[in-house]
Amino acid sequence: MSDIIKLLPDAVANQIAAGEVIQRPASAIKELVENAIDAGADNIRLIVKDAGRTLIQVIDNGSGMSDTDARISFERHATSKISNANDLFTIRTMGFRGEALASICAIAHVEMKTRRETDTLGTHIINEGSAIKSQELCACEKGTSIAVKNLFFNVPARRNFLKSDQVELRHINDEFLRVALSHPDIAFTYFHNGSEMYHLPKSNLKKRIVACFGNPYNDKLVSIEHVSDMVSFSGFISKPEAARKTRGEQFFFTNRRFMKHNYLNHAVFNAYDELIKKDTFPSFFIFIEIDPEQIDVNIHPTKTEIKFQDERLIYSFLNATVKKALGMHNVLPSLDFTTDTNFDVTPRQGGVYVPPPEMKISPNFNPFDTGRDTSPKHTLPNERSNKDNWQKLYDELARTADPVLPDEPSSFGNSNSVTSLFETNDRPGDDVKMLLLHNRFVAAQVKSGMMLVDKQAALERILFEKYLLMLDGKGNASQQLLFPHSVEFSPADAELITELNEELRSLGFELLPTGSNSFDVIGTPPDLQDDKLQHTFEKMLENFKSNRISLKLGRNENMAAAFSRQVAAKQTKPLVQEEMNGLIDSLFACENPYYTPYGKSTVCIIKTDDIENLFKLQQ
Ligand code: ADP
Ligand code: MG
Repeated sequence: MSDIIKLLPDAVANQIAAGEVIQRPASAIKELVENAIDAGADNIRLIVKDAGRTLIQVIDNGSGMSDTDARISFERHATSKISNANDLFTIRTMGFRGEALASICAIAHVEMKTRRETDTLGTHIINEGSAIKSQELCACEKGTSIAVKNLFFNVPARRNFLKSDQVELRHINDEFLRVALSHPDIAFTYFHNGSEMYHLPKSNLKKRIVACFGNPYNDKLVSIEHVSDMVSFSGFISKPEAARKTRGEQFFFTNRRFMKHNYLNHAVFNAYDELIKKDTFPSFFIFIEIDPEQIDVNIHPTKTEIKFQDERLIYSFLNATVKKALGMHNVLPSLDFTTDTNFDVTPRQGGVYVPPPEMKISPNFNPFDTGRDTSPKHTLPNERSNKDNWQKLYDELARTADPVLPDEPSSFGNSNSVTSLFETNDRPGDDVKMLLLHNRFVAAQVKSGMMLVDKQAALERILFEKYLLMLDGKGNASQQLLFPHSVEFSPADAELITELNEELRSLGFELLPTGSNSFDVIGTPPDLQDDKLQHTFEKMLENFKSNRISLKLGRNENMAAAFSRQVAAKQTKPLVQEEMNGLIDSLFACENPYYTPYGKSTVCIIKTDDIENLFKLQQ
């Protein structure tokens, strides 16, 4: 029998390979524009006709090519970007596989003009279906112009596979925006069928975002920043009030390459969880800089997924960075009890952008700090005395017995009833009497109706923020117990206690191992006067373990949430007027007063209208 394996002719092999790289006009545009960027251009013009079916032209002012390089650039695996396999691990350019031009040529008519700065004349190449038809000298601008005509002329199956012009244009637009956003330092223009779609002068990222998505973005963005040895983040995220029902603009760029990453998307969404309504989405434009060795190098040109070596760590860094940005940039409202007591709410007008209310927050403000006055300058005298009230309340809290166990955690990020607060910033006036209902809710009159604060939820939030500060190393006083209190756990819990030793110390606990599963507690947080330490530890571990599974919290947050829930549950003593004031003051001094760390609302407002409706005659 004769041999049956044949080598495919180059042209056919190229056509097949081209199918992988060039699926539609947008992919050809991406490749050509990326080549222009790699060539160091700072001005790139894109001209498209009939959604790319008839013409795609990219003109750049980059390095240009010599006539030999220009000729070779159409060959498969022709690349100037890597020369050995090791280079693969440090690649920073957009392309490196030397496939794009060869692929485009295999399925289109391609005309290139290119000239280096040092050459007087450039070169002009005409290429059809992988074959060079002509090459001659020509006068042209410095840089490279590549025109791709009649895409898929020799692959009817592909041509027929293309969608409507509208759909193909949308793909082109997406690719264009991805590359324009990641390179604000490059000027871009984009024409389709003779009309200018985008004209983007060189600028910075914020201006580029606004130029791409319109002026309203000017007021919607908060910058983010995180620099560490392992990974850096920069860019912008949208303010919570700008969240939209549709998945808005969400862009990740890793080393300036656009990527999709569901897991990291979650890191961003999760940071907003308590701040935006369910089913709404923030926008973000986040740049990740990481050593290329930390990412999977096997990046296919059409793939937008990137694999990081340590995704969990990147997740938590990113999550923390976004949270910090939301807190730092005064996005979280803090209410000022002494001044603004008469707060007018103007009804929203349709279509008019209403700026969010003026907000003040100090990331360093610690309502528990009663020692040296390190409080920030804007702390008002009244806040000071309220803090003292709070301290009393807090002292009381620790003395009480019989823990009341809280409900099961509600889903993280539930958002009922917060809208009214975000929209009105309504709060009780200074002299308003507060009422304690069923030892559970603090009720107070506010301008729009009645405010109800869930006492235990509020405490959880206040304590949570306090413990987070402590876990961050900001104060970890401990009181030595006169008599060590011995506690004993199951082997698994004992191991967890040992694992959490450092966090427990930050909170003020001091434990000495006395057996394989037993410890002597010799120090506790000063505000915890607890004779049921065994029970407190058990509950805390239980919370910690279930948080880890259901909430995927960071370790410190988890610890702070677990402990605050446990301590808040112990507060069963009825509050007096002063204490209620203190509670509400401390709550609104929190970074995020509206939810417990578990996502339960701490406060809601019942509007006067709604109360009135309760008394209406039933039909
Ligand atoms: P890759 O970008 O993966 O190297 P391409 O097929 O896209 O492969 O391009 C092949 C080579 O052609 C590039 O490595 C580069 O040297 C050269 N080249 C392509 N486009 C341009 C351009 N616009 N300006 C200068 N050189 C270019
Ligand atoms: Mg390329």
